[in-house]
Amino acid sequence: MAKLINGQAISAEIKAEIALEVQELKQKGIIPGLAVVLVGSDPASQTYVNLKEKACAAAGIYSEKYALPSTTHQDELFDLVNRLNHKKEIHGILVQMPLPDGLDEESVIETIDPWKDVDAFHPSNVGRIMIGNYRFLPCTPAGIMEMLRREKIAVAGKNCVVVGRSNIVGKPMAMLLMHANGTVTVCHSKTKDLADVCRRADILVASVGRPKFITADMVKPGACVIDVGMDRDENGKLCGDVDFEPVSKVASAITPVPRGVGPMTIAMLLRNTLTAAKIQNAIPNRKKVC
Ligand code: NAP
Repeated sequence: MAKLINGQAISAEIKAEIALEVQELKQKGIIPGLAVVLVGSDPASQTYVNLKEKACAAAGIYSEKYALPSTTHQDELFDLVNRLNHKKEIHGILVQMPLPDGLDEESVIETIDPWKDVDAFHPSNVGRIMIGNYRFLPCTPAGIMEMLRREKIAVAGKNCVVVGRSNIVGKPMAMLLMHANGTVTVCHSKTKDLADVCRRADILVASVGRPKFITADMVKPGACVIDVGMDRDENGKLCGDVDFEPVSKVASAITPVPRGVGPMTIAMLLRNTLTAAKIQNAIPNRKKVC
């Protein structure tokens, strides 16, 4: 039976470390601040934004929430982001994606000051990740790397397979695994013989968005399986991209859904906000993001 990688517990540890660092900053008169912008009324986005606000409060990070109607015009969003770019108390800006139809996500992301881009979606930060010289890392892949590190699951020399090539998870995940000296294969909907490719993985990361897509026959015995998916099963119950019960009988380590990757993503957002506050106040950053 696979070891359960408890993202909830690991993230609690990280959040406690962040809270201490926030206290230290406060003694220097600096309060890290995050602005979260939510456009429209997508229930999942509302839930994520609420979780992020709560996590900020618990860590002592100041946060501001801007909830805008789905009828918001692109220019209004640009204006808000520009105001936040210049607002001194705000060190990090997060525009919750996806945006409602009619709003151009790419140009909104490009409007965010790269030094405040705590999601690390701005092309300048994406480029830095590519060359391995980053300010911030995208929260979900960074959370996974931190999880592996704290669980002492070595990446160097391992065959790593990432299923999914999204800009927010799959691509940066592949890059971070490669920077950590893994031998990385990225799969997508056009990949041939997906099960064969997955079976070669010592570390298998699934970010597909399809419930229970990774089945036990796709997993090498003893592999570490990381499930990014936040899906709903046939009964509407939250589940991941991995068929958890059968796969956990084959893998050596596995993340559950919920309480796996999700909480790590939020912990990394707090870490990025703290890093942003330090950078903007010319305070050396003791910890790297991962
Ligand atoms: P996405 O943008 O929808 O991308 C899905 C990827 O899966 C695409 O690259 C797609 O290939 C690939 N794919 C789809 N069907 C496939 C198939 N049959 N075989 C192989 N590959 C296939 O997804 P995402 O944003 O990475 O999100 C994926 C899941 O993670 C979702 O459930 C999302 O809710 C969850 N998520 C969770 C967190 C967290 O913090 N836990 C964070 C982000 C996302 P193509 O490129 O060829 O279309």
